Amino acid sequence: MPYFINVILPIPLEKLFTYSVSKSEAEFLKPGMRVGVPFGKSKIYTALVHAVHNTPPEVYEAKEIHRILDEHPIVNPYQLEHWQWIADYYMCSLGEVFRSAVPSAFLLESETLILRNDRVVVNEKELEDDEFLVYEALQHQSTLKVHEVSSIVDRKNILPILNRLLEKKVILLKEEMYEQYRPKLVRYVKLGAEYLYEEKLEALLETLSRAPKQSQVVLSLFQLQAVKKKPIKVADLEETSGGSKAVIKSLVDKEILEEYFIRTDRVNYGGEEENFALKELNEYQQEALKDISQSFEDKKTVLLHGVTSSGKTEVYVKLIEECIHSGKQALYLLPEIALTTQLISRLQDYFGEKVSVYHSKYNIQERVEVWNNVLAKRLKAQIVIGARSALFLPYSELGLIIVDEEHEGSYKQFDPAPRYHARDAAIVLANLHQCQILLGSATPSIESFYNAQTGKYGYAQIKHRYGNVLMPNIELVDLKEDNRKKRMKGHFSERLLEGIKETLDAGEQVILFQNRRGYAPIVECTTCGHSPQCPNCDVSLTFHQYKKQLRCHYCGYHMALPESCQACGSPSLDTKGFGTEQVEKELETLFPEAKTWRMDLDTTRGKHGYEKIITAFEQHEMDILVGTQMLTKGLDFRNVSLVGIMNADSLLNFPDYRAHERCFQLLTQVAGRAGRTKKQGRVIIQSYNPYHQILKQVSTNDYEGMFKEQLNEREQYRYPPQNRIIRITFKHKEYNRLNEAAEWFAQALRNALGVNVLGPEYPPVARIRNQFLKNVMVKIPQNQSLTKTKSIIKRIEKSFNAVSQYRSVRVIYNVDHI
Ligand code: ADP
Ligand code: ZN
Ligand code: ZN
Repeated sequence: MPYFINVILPIPLEKLFTYSVSKSEAEFLKPGMRVGVPFGKSKIYTALVHAVHNTPPEVYEAKEIHRILDEHPIVNPYQLEHWQWIADYYMCSLGEVFRSAVPSAFLLESETLILRNDRVVVNEKELEDDEFLVYEALQHQSTLKVHEVSSIVDRKNILPILNRLLEKKVILLKEEMYEQYRPKLVRYVKLGAEYLYEEKLEALLETLSRAPKQSQVVLSLFQLQAVKKKPIKVADLEETSGGSKAVIKSLVDKEILEEYFIRTDRVNYGGEEENFALKELNEYQQEALKDISQSFEDKKTVLLHGVTSSGKTEVYVKLIEECIHSGKQALYLLPEIALTTQLISRLQDYFGEKVSVYHSKYNIQERVEVWNNVLAKRLKAQIVIGARSALFLPYSELGLIIVDEEHEGSYKQFDPAPRYHARDAAIVLANLHQCQILLGSATPSIESFYNAQTGKYGYAQIKHRYGNVLMPNIELVDLKEDNRKKRMKGHFSERLLEGIKETLDAGEQVILFQNRRGYAPIVECTTCGHSPQCPNCDVSLTFHQYKKQLRCHYCGYHMALPESCQACGSPSLDTKGFGTEQVEKELETLFPEAKTWRMDLDTTRGKHGYEKIITAFEQHEMDILVGTQMLTKGLDFRNVSLVGIMNADSLLNFPDYRAHERCFQLLTQVAGRAGRTKKQGRVIIQSYNPYHQILKQVSTNDYEGMFKEQLNEREQYRYPPQNRIIRITFKHKEYNRLNEAAEWFAQALRNALGVNVLGPEYPPVARIRNQFLKNVMVKIPQNQSLTKTKSIIKRIEKSFNAVSQYRSVRVIYNVDHI
């Protein structure tokens, strides 16, 4: 009897591929194991076994596999089922899901580059002969291709050798070259080594007697060391001693104090005893926890709707504890950007070593480690905290999933396929595991709140901030009025300036929010109105003052700021609109004393930029932080009492059915950064349109008012949550061909589905990287089957691809596009 396996190849092929195997191989192989297989003329791919069977393929002769790569499955049946759902629901191939689900180190293929790992000392005796050959070759040249390795060891099947070398850390794969993620460093101080003896110390205090501030700092350090036994943070010393940064710095300069740094995550925990006890929940948190547990009994997904700083995290922590107590695994999902070391160390304080982090900034090897720990169900990875890709880890006994900040749009993967929504995919995963799942937010998505209202989800609420901290007081400022009366200074209203001044005078911190980076979005000629465009994309270039550059935010193209208009030659170029950089510049003249910093993609791109800025701000090394929406995510700053929104209008004017919902969420979240301790925080929102309904709802914290209004509009225009949408994007480098193709497809859809097909239309940026784009939107009302609609669309795509001049047009599906 012949034996075959079906495998998933990590490429966008609709069908699984069949290979032939021997009887003993068939007995050994199980779904979820990797095999090296030949594909095309000369390529070897890492493929995943999907099924073992005896049915030969009908239309081609099955090739033999190259080699078996695993002893045991690295992917489990839950995952295969989950991936299948993702592929079906989001209209992509299983191969695309496979490729994005596993760490790329699992996908060795013939094009992978192999590098020498200079960071370890290799013990040559531990290498087997074939391994040594590769190792030696890498001493002479820094990189090798897979086929080169193949000729060095004179063998076709070299993937096992490479896997062994990887395990022994002798080699690296090319993708590993990105920078290692370095977590935040916290500044600590101790007494200089010289002063550890008592006599020396006494002498020191003598000499310091004429510097009371300095001696106070030294004494406080002493006190702290006596009670705490643990390293003393600079920030703590400042607080207890009342000494300023300057005083501490001068002590460090004199080598009386010694400064050192410790990274806060990946700290080694000594064991269980070191963990902090869980916090006692207050009555509101307890109430919420009770409601959650009750809904879990009915096996429902639950939405926890708790205002900013209500202590949702502590509720999650209680649930996580229950879960791991029962021996199951827990997954804590966060949007990438909210996955801060602040939160990670908070969880590690409670659960120590049981917490694993799965993060795109960690290198491949670390991700493989987490994968293997989860696969082996090790205690080390009993709690996984991670961004959306953490959904794909090989959980075998999941007991709880938390989806924090569930409203976040970045949970939806945009590019490449699978274009899945991590929250929704998490709910499906929870169902597969029959496990509990909690969605949490201060500003739930319209979808989730709708599902809670219709009873599909359970619902729990916390309306009060923890510790009786008041909700921030939100004030709307009319920029029209201030402009008319000539009261503006730059982009600052009188009100906001006063607010900043008062805050700084009180020694507190300010956050300013401007949803655009760069100096001024565009440069415009005042003579002819021309503004420089990106040559690759249909979009104006953005002006960046710092480098005197014009940049494209879509493709990265940049050029020096021209001296004169490229269209008419006039030297009168002017900037229009404004970004974070300009706000920062203006602050320099308005508040020259204050230390101002900026947080946006440009300042955080570099080495650990994001963590550095957060830490410095946390430790009050700056007074004002200007930033884009990076600021909104889950940050807990103690000393911020004023949040200013520079211009709310840019958020309201997006041509998108979600613009209002997003604006409400964004503003409420930014506002939530204000006054997280006892004093009531202040928020000042500047707008040319302060009577806009959404701004009113933000200022009165009227989530339900916002929800009702938006729901009505969504119903009227047939958008989600009551209806579903699929966006189809067509992409091609030739303008005419794209137009024709998109029109053809849309017409076919209209014939099949009627009025609920919109477009084709150009998106706001109609060309990106020299590819033209056009969108068609399919709306699917409640009474129409989603599955049937998708198969109609797929059928149309088949006929579309049969037209030869359309075949090169790319068709991209985005189900539940947001
Ligand atoms: P949210 O996630 O809802 O914005 P957090 O969980 O960050 O709120 O809580 C806000 C602050 O209140 C945090 O500093 C947290 O440590 C504190 N806090 C919350 N609940 C408790 C509790 N039960 N006991 C002590 N402190 C708490
Ligand atoms: Zn001009
Ligand atoms: Zn561009």
